[in-house]
This record gives sequence, C-alpha cells and structure tokens, in this order.
Amino acid sequence: MNFDHEPADILKRLGELRRADAPTHGGRVLSYVYDSGLAELDELAASAIRAVQPVNGLDPTTFTSVAVMEREVIEFARNLLGGDADVVGTVTTGGTESCLLAVKTARDVWRGTGSSARAGTPRLLAPVTVHAAFQKAAHYFGLELDLVPVGLDGVVAAKDVIARFGDDVAIVVVSAPSYAHAAMDPVVEVAAAAAEHGIACHVDACIGGWVLPFWEGVEPWNFTVPGVTSISADLHKFGYAPKGASVLLQRDRDRQRAQYFATTRWPGYPIVNPTILGSKSAGPLAAAWAIIQALGTSGLAELSESCARSTRALRDVIDGIEGLRVVGDPVGPLLAVASDEVVAADRRVDAHHWADQTREHGFLLQLQPSLVQSDGTILPATTHLTITPVTESVLDELSTALRSAADEVRGIPAVSAEVALAALPAEVGAALSAPDARPLSSEQAAQVLAAIGLAGASDGLPERMAPLLALIGALPAPLTERLLTELLARLVEPTS
Ligand SMILES: *Cc1c(COP(=O)(O)O)cnc(C)c1O
Repeated sequence: MNFDHEPADILKRLGELRRADAPTHGGRVLSYVYDSGLAELDELAASAIRAVQPVNGLDPTTFTSVAVMEREVIEFARNLLGGDADVVGTVTTGGTESCLLAVKTARDVWRGTGSSARAGTPRLLAPVTVHAAFQKAAHYFGLELDLVPVGLDGVVAAKDVIARFGDDVAIVVVSAPSYAHAAMDPVVEVAAAAAEHGIACHVDACIGGWVLPFWEGVEPWNFTVPGVTSISADLHKFGYAPKGASVLLQRDRDRQRAQYFATTRWPGYPIVNPTILGSKSAGPLAAAWAIIQALGTSGLAELSESCARSTRALRDVIDGIEGLRVVGDPVGPLLAVASDEVVAADRRVDAHHWADQTREHGFLLQLQPSLVQSDGTILPATTHLTITPVTESVLDELSTALRSAADEVRGIPAVSAEVALAALPAEVGAALSAPDARPLSSEQAAQVLAAIGLAGASDGLPERMAPLLALIGALPAPLTERLLTELLARLVEPTS
C-alpha cells in the first residue's frame, strides 16, 4: 500500500507534538502525572499494552486474558483495601468511571424493582470537597446534588453530613482523602450512620487508594469499616499505571449486580457488562496488571515511603516560607497551599502568583480557585501539589524554586475580582453583567474569549494563570462554565 505519509514522518511529527507537552517525566509537573521514577516500569507497561493491542476488552469470554487479568487485579485490590470474600469489583477506565458507576449502582439499588420500586428523585450527599466526578454523576444519572459545607481546613464535620440523611438519599460519598485539600473525611462515623439508615456509603479513594495503605497515622477508611459499601481507587494514580485504569470495589454481590447493564433484546450479540464503554482497549488493564505484579505490596510500600519523605520535606519547606501556609492537616502525598492571612499584607504570598512564579523556575503547580460555600463561607484560593516517587529526585531544586518564587512575589496582592472584571473590555463587561438569561451563542462566547485574550488557546495555557483564575472567581459559575466549554470545544475544531 502507498501511504499518504511515511510512518517515520508521522512518528517524527508526533515526537514534535509531544515535545510541546508538559513534561510527563522527571518530576516537573506536580499534578496529572504519577511518575514512579522507574524507567523499567514504563517499559513493562508499554510491552504489556503492545501484547494486548488488538484485543477487545468488551468480551472477556472471547478474550479470556482480559478476565484473568481483571480477576487478578481485583483480588490484589481487595486484599489491599481490607475486603473479604463479600467484596467484588471491576476494573474501569479511570476514576471518573469508577465514581459514575458507584453512583449508578446506588441509584438503581435505591430505586428498587417490582413492588418495592421507589419513585422520586434520589439525592447524592457529600462534602463540597468531593471530586467533581460526583457532580458529573449526579448530572448524568439524575440525582439531586446535596453538598455539605466544610471547615476552612477542608474538613467536614460528620454530624453536618449525618444531619442531612433522609429517605431520599441514595448515596453518601466521603473521600480518602479529598483531591483539593488532602482532607480525610470522617469515614467511620459517616459509614456507621449510613448503615443504620440503609444508605450506600462510597469512599472515594481514587487518589489515596494505592498509597494510604502504606501511610502512617491514617484513620480507618477501607472495607474494614462497617457501612462502607464501595471504594474507588485509581490504578493510573498511585498504582503507577498508564492512564485508563481504576478499580471500583463493591461490598455485597447482590448490590454489585445492579452495576451491570444487560440486554438480549436486540438482533445482535448480548450486551452484558458492568462498565460504561462497549468495545475498549485491554491495554491499560494489562499495563496495570503487569505493574502490580512487578511491584507487589513491598514495591508499592517502598514507593509510598518515598512519597511520604518528599511530602514531609515539602511541608517543612512551605512551613518555612513566610506568607504561605499548608491548608489543614493533609493526609497522603498531596498538599494545598494558601496565602497566610496571619502575617502583614506586605509579607503575604498570594498562592496563585506563587504558582505562576514557580513555573518560571521550571515546575508546574496547579492553581485551585476559591469557593463560596452554601453557608456563605469562602474556601480560599489554593495551589495544589501532588507528590510522587520521582519528586525525591528533584527535591532540592524544587525546594529552592518554591522559596525563590515566594520571595519574588511576596507582598503582591492577589488579583482581585474587581480588577479582573475591570480589565475586561467595556462592551464585554456590559454584556456579561446584563441580566439577560439567554445563553451565549458559540459566536458570542468566542468573542468574549477573544476580548479577554483567550482565543486561539491551542498554543497552551497563558503564561500567567492568576488573572484567569481571578476572572473565573468573579464571573457567575454558569457563565464561566459556558466560556470554558467554548474554549475547549474550539481547541479541537478543524482549522481549515
Ligand atoms: C482523580 C480523582 C478522581 C477522578 O479520577 P479521574 O481518573 O481523573 O477520572 C476522583 N476522585 C478523586 C479524589 C481524585 O483524585
């Protein structure tokens, strides 16, 4: 066959495109990527993916390797997370899918069937810090979202959650720990009360699931806790697998069967599966399976200890920086850092200016917006760091970068909402503040993006994110959501 382009040329171009990406290895990006720092693990994963490349993960009866690998991953996860023979599970394509399926299962169990079927809208109850995947789940599956305010340290009081229990609550979700603040939710109390009320209790351990088993001083949070009905734990985070792998474990076979969708009522092959996709790659499963076997619990423990050492060291570094503070008492290898309001304004370090400035020193931190809770209290803007085993290899350079960046922006006030709004071209500001309920058209949204300098964002993120985050905070959420939708949609529109 005569190809349009030579494979070598195609791969050359791909290489060029990849060079423009944020670096996935070497510890320069402190979110999104979970680098074990072990090149041989990456090689093993690549080989495993290649070995199953043509396999369709849809059908484990035709491709029996899929069933064997999934069974072995589930067994490993069940043992790691304190499950007994009553705990069963599924490998999914990621944390979001695990969370979606936990909610779908609980909704269908809540609804019941036949003469015991329940009508009405079920409720999903969780601290406001619960991962946004649960907002997505409520949206997709038609649950009312009930988000409980947390303390300024990101920790929710168990009684505030339990006080909102009711017959319409299909599921309560707690995190171990939460992504934004690394706050450990009160799993034991909430799960016990949930069991009493017959409410499903999901522990979202997407980020903690593969690292907390080896962490010191963590309150109980896994299947050893009575009342916990399901746990999500991402293999593609601290299981060090390539993206596309997570587990959802459920207690009680009968409950878990509600996760499945089955139909024989069409003229094709029977569709019977516990996950959202149809045909799918077996690659991430094979890679995760291979990595688990290579590492075993002792390897995972060793990598977790590295994360713990680096997290302690970075916490000390930040504690030592005047004007910054670590939010709450983080559990696990992640930190949220806020401006320290206790020191005088001219000694404060704005967390977002700090993140932007740290980027100048070669490290990418993640800016997190402030949030007004339903009780009117405001969770401050923070900067997020996820610490992985590779962090230890750049610890000195990173520590220096964090200190220098803070020195360089100390005393510079946060970009205020007013300033962010005032910076908008007049006509844009007027259009945005008009009480016109009509949604923006694609064209109008694009004009606003252009006016605030965000059109053609295919070159990547702006150099400075602090002004953008301030703007996000200043505009009504539905409007920001609309604008960001436009931004992302236009990113993949054909240019010619
Ligand atoms: C990452 C994460 C998720 C969502 O997982 P994805 O793999 O990004 O879909 C859910 N919950 C928590 C706590 C997470 O950290």
